[in-house]
Amino acid sequence: MIDLNKLCGMKGKIAVITGAASGIGAGISKFFADAGVTVVMADINESLANCVKEEIIAAGNNSIFIKCDVTKESDCKALADAVIEKFGKIDILVNCAGVARRHTVETLSEADWDLALNVTLKSVFLMSKHIVPYMKKAGGGKIVNIGSGWALKGGDHAVSYCAAKAGVWNMTRAMAIDHGPDNINVNCVCPGDIDTPMLKSECEQLGGVYDEKFKEECAQRPMARLGAPVDVAMCVFFLCSDMSPWVTGTSLVVDGGGIA
Ligand code: NAP
Repeated sequence: MIDLNKLCGMKGKIAVITGAASGIGAGISKFFADAGVTVVMADINESLANCVKEEIIAAGNNSIFIKCDVTKESDCKALADAVIEKFGKIDILVNCAGVARRHTVETLSEADWDLALNVTLKSVFLMSKHIVPYMKKAGGGKIVNIGSGWALKGGDHAVSYCAAKAGVWNMTRAMAIDHGPDNINVNCVCPGDIDTPMLKSECEQLGGVYDEKFKEECAQRPMARLGAPVDVAMCVFFLCSDMSPWVTGTSLVVDGGGIA
């Protein structure tokens, strides 16, 4: 009989997860913690992050929260150094923080362009810049960048988001090429519509009614439902586990067939 825990090799791993206080990041944090990973939650939303951390600890699992604005290099460096000081290693980095501003080029402000690009794309660069050297020193690691279906195709009223996510996806391939020789796997997970506060906010920005809009849209898709954070978490888990040692530079679309 296969020992799945042994095969996954996740117990005792140290994972840094950005955007961990809400939605998909919170789902990944809880799923990883349930599998025996010590989760370092990185987010700007202190109150939400503390709620998720308490939930993880109440379940008997391990997590710490470090407040981190992923758009600031000093915060990203301080986080990486603090984790090494406390745990001695970082096995996994999941770059999940992101924001969506639903505008066309005509209506998007320069400030919102900068925000979307900084939180969604520049953060992947900054966190990776300060964590990759520790992974190299340790002999390897796993990085998963959260993209989007809109990394692969365009979407309406989403120019900054589409630009940022396409950047995340192609940057993933560039990082995989650079760091394959360091035994660091770098992959991208591209979710479709997932039931999170971000999706609700997008719906509000577009003037829609959340339940109605997505009931209608999902009915046209192959799996006919919205995704849940755990749908994404399970795929991220696979790419961070020992079960995917030869998978790097790829994107895994997790969207119930939405862009099939
Ligand atoms: P979410 O619920 O809004 O969670 C995002 C988290 O990131 C929030 O806790 C947010 O804090 C935090 N954050 C924002 N700016 C930050 C910063 N500068 N530094 C650190 N943390 C920051 O979003 P989600 O739906 O889970 O999305 C997570 C990722 O999946 C994003 O990259 C998103 O683009 C991607 N994605 C989502 C969907 C979807 O349908 N939900 C689909 C495809 C891809 P605040 O709440 O305080 O802003």
